[in-house]
Amino acid sequence: MNIAVVGAGYVGLTLAAVLADFGHKVWVVRKDKEKNEGLKKGKIHFFEPDLEDLVKKNLKTGRLIPTTEYSQAIPFSQVIFIAVGTPSLSSGAVDLSQVFEAAKEIGKNLSLEYTVVVNKSTCPPGTTRKVARIIEKFKPKKANFDVVFCPEFLREGSAVENTKRPDRVVIGVESPKAAKIIKELHKQFKVPILLTKIESAELIKYAANSYLALRIVFANQIADLCEKSGADIEEVIKGMGTDKRIGLHYWYPGMGYGGSCFPKDVAAIADFAKKKKITGSIFAVVDKLNKKRISQIIKKLESNFGSFVNKKVGVLGLACKQGTDDIRESPAIKIIELLKKKRAKIIAYDPMAVENAKKVLSGVTFAKNSYEVTKDADCLLILTDWPEFGRLDYAKIKKLMRGNFVFDSRNILAKEKIKKLGYNYLGVGR
Ligand code: NAD
Repeated sequence: MNIAVVGAGYVGLTLAAVLADFGHKVWVVRKDKEKNEGLKKGKIHFFEPDLEDLVKKNLKTGRLIPTTEYSQAIPFSQVIFIAVGTPSLSSGAVDLSQVFEAAKEIGKNLSLEYTVVVNKSTCPPGTTRKVARIIEKFKPKKANFDVVFCPEFLREGSAVENTKRPDRVVIGVESPKAAKIIKELHKQFKVPILLTKIESAELIKYAANSYLALRIVFANQIADLCEKSGADIEEVIKGMGTDKRIGLHYWYPGMGYGGSCFPKDVAAIADFAKKKKITGSIFAVVDKLNKKRISQIIKKLESNFGSFVNKKVGVLGLACKQGTDDIRESPAIKIIELLKKKRAKIIAYDPMAVENAKKVLSGVTFAKNSYEVTKDADCLLILTDWPEFGRLDYAKIKKLMRGNFVFDSRNILAKEKIKKLGYNYLGVGR
């Protein structure tokens, strides 16, 4: 099948590469000319495990075609995916301008053959029908098309694997003709396919993300109670999660959720509920509690470590989570910004995210490896759950450091072992 994917970010490029690998001819349409030239040579502007190899392989076969010209891709495609950004406006509402601009360009370039336009950008119920109206307005008179909404559930750090083998594919569709084509296209994925109304599919994405975000806020509140009561969050999670109705997965006490999706998606569903005049929505509360978490952590650090003025603070982890170089809404970056205001001297390291962090953080020294961060440090803060931080030689680090305070924001260290080495250990809820 001939396919176009508009947007070459984490979602769009991964989808394009996977579809090309499945044997389709796929144009990936982006705006940035320089990044496009890089992509033609297999250079990707972000880190995602296994993606570079997949892109290079499919550039070689000629099935993956990067372009900045809609006119070179849209008229030849039977299926067109929209995978552009849907960031937050300052009000918390979602900014849909990239989606609407993509819809306009798709409309202008639509062929006269029947085409299915699949929106994958996370957006509130009703948006995909607006996309249809925009395409209708700009398309050639005789062009014939349908719209579909397919939410994307990939996680950064495992995007290729998640795109190839999602838990399920949700197809929000009205037209039987479009349903048949998009169902057929997804048969190759060999996973359950769920056909729904368009609005249901749009809401499924927000419902899933806000529920996962709620679990993080909930875990943090239980962790706070653990600290006040002498209980241990790891034991509480085990005891609670072995109840089959609850499950042991996805309990992450720490500094709250960050990243490119949860913060904006929870804010967007809260805004959507408000606009629909639903009062007392849980989404606004989740959003507010999560925003408060960083200042809570800073207070906790100060009461356990003391003043940060002129202290050398070693930071391990800048990315919003392990496995990615994405620093969007990263709790680590927020903690560093606040510690800088408290006149701490920060030296930081991340296996993947240093280059991105350099673009947003000034007055921070970046180290080449984890051990360099710890040299003469008054304290050590582990702010991202990269597994390699759990495997470091903490006896060696103890000797390198000036102080002995370590904050383990994701509970990745063996607390008793670390304490035995002479550290003043602070975890979350333990
Ligand atoms: P991204 O910011 O990495 O990529 C979006 C890309 O679209 C950017 O490169 C941007 O330049 C490009 N773009 C914007 N307007 C364009 C246009 N008119 N024509 C061509 N390209 C255009 O975003 P992402 O992380 O890939 O997310 C895309 C969508 O998928 C968002 O709605 C997001 O919420 C959703 N989503 C993201 C993830 C994730 O983990 N990143 C997971 C599930 C869903």
